[in-house]
Amino acid sequence: MLSNRQLFLLNTAQTSTSPRLIEIEKAEGLYLYGPDGQKYMDLVSGFAVSNIGHRHPRVLTAIRDQLEKYLHVTVYGEFIQAPQVALATKLLEQLPSTLNNIYFVNSGAEATEGAMKIAKKYTGRSAFIAAKKAYHGSTQGALSLMGDEKYKIPYEPLLPNITYINYNELNDLSKITTDTAGVVLEAVQGEAGIRVPDINYMQQLRKRCNETGALLILDEIQTGLGRTGKLFAFEHYGIVPDILLTAKGLGGGMPIGAFIARREIMDVIKENPILGHITTFGGHPVSCAAALASLTVILEEKLMDTVPQKHEIFKAHLKHPLIKEVRGIGLMMCIQLTSFQQVEAVSKYCAENGVMIDWFLHHETALRVSPPLIIKEEEIIAACTVIKQGLDRLSA
Ligand code: PLP
Repeated sequence: MLSNRQLFLLNTAQTSTSPRLIEIEKAEGLYLYGPDGQKYMDLVSGFAVSNIGHRHPRVLTAIRDQLEKYLHVTVYGEFIQAPQVALATKLLEQLPSTLNNIYFVNSGAEATEGAMKIAKKYTGRSAFIAAKKAYHGSTQGALSLMGDEKYKIPYEPLLPNITYINYNELNDLSKITTDTAGVVLEAVQGEAGIRVPDINYMQQLRKRCNETGALLILDEIQTGLGRTGKLFAFEHYGIVPDILLTAKGLGGGMPIGAFIARREIMDVIKENPILGHITTFGGHPVSCAAALASLTVILEEKLMDTVPQKHEIFKAHLKHPLIKEVRGIGLMMCIQLTSFQQVEAVSKYCAENGVMIDWFLHHETALRVSPPLIIKEEEIIAACTVIKQGLDRLSA
């Protein structure tokens, strides 16, 4: 009989020639467990998803309660489904009044697609601005925004009329013009290796969008909910986007995404023609129930308040001659090393010694640190110790 590892390689599509091949049997809180007694402290959170930890009891209860009522009943936007309504209401309560309407989808990429569509129809323009080294998803519209040719060339032609700017570069804001439908930017660049923009840059960006009538579309798919110490990172900058994208950490471990805008922008998809954006499973009732429970946990347990201090604990314990810099905001951090060989070797050592850590799509020389927000001080210290041991072996 073939092992799961063999069947994985044989029967499921591979996204690289070197998958990590770590088998997971169970996950709970901060920890992932393998089939042979392995226990890993998860410093990746399934790529910024498990913000309240794996299988949070309140999320499980919400899922079970919804299972007793209904699963899928119809496409998004037709029937009144209480879990969707409750999630939308609770989420909007947390947001500025100009972000007052939500469209639920299944993923981050779909949120990007939906936002691009409403920006085009609302403004009557078709050009977009995106940043170099951006990542907004893998579908063709979202991929068109990716500021790295290597990933796009085999799939061309993609969307035309996209201009790439350098992230956090004030001079490049002049490329936003009255032809621009939308500027799509990550609130903190993730896959570029965690790049936190200056407050002044974000404020000037907002100003330039106001001057030109371009919609500011902030991708908070990785930064949300709570990861940077605020529910959404735009709160750090004193600005409000026209369209907010969320996914990943929204669902408490279940698949869901959303694009959020003011009503008059969102309304463009409901007529001329009707059904301007359709999804069968978007806002699945079980995902919405889980997301509501997760949001409630983040707010009631005041998880965001603990984030800046945990950031500092990581920084204090990540001191090593091979670490060039520890960068980031809140629990969206990276450890800057010198080469991919170092990153790969340390990740391997960490996995073998019970710490799951990873790297970035566009930045191969840094380690990704984005643990569940529930991580405790002693766990941070223990994780940092293993990382430093991995680095010691490199220097030995
Ligand atoms: N935007 C950002 C900033 C992301 O990090 C990601 C995924 O990594 C996406 C969009 C795409 O989200 P999804 O994988 O759910 O389509």
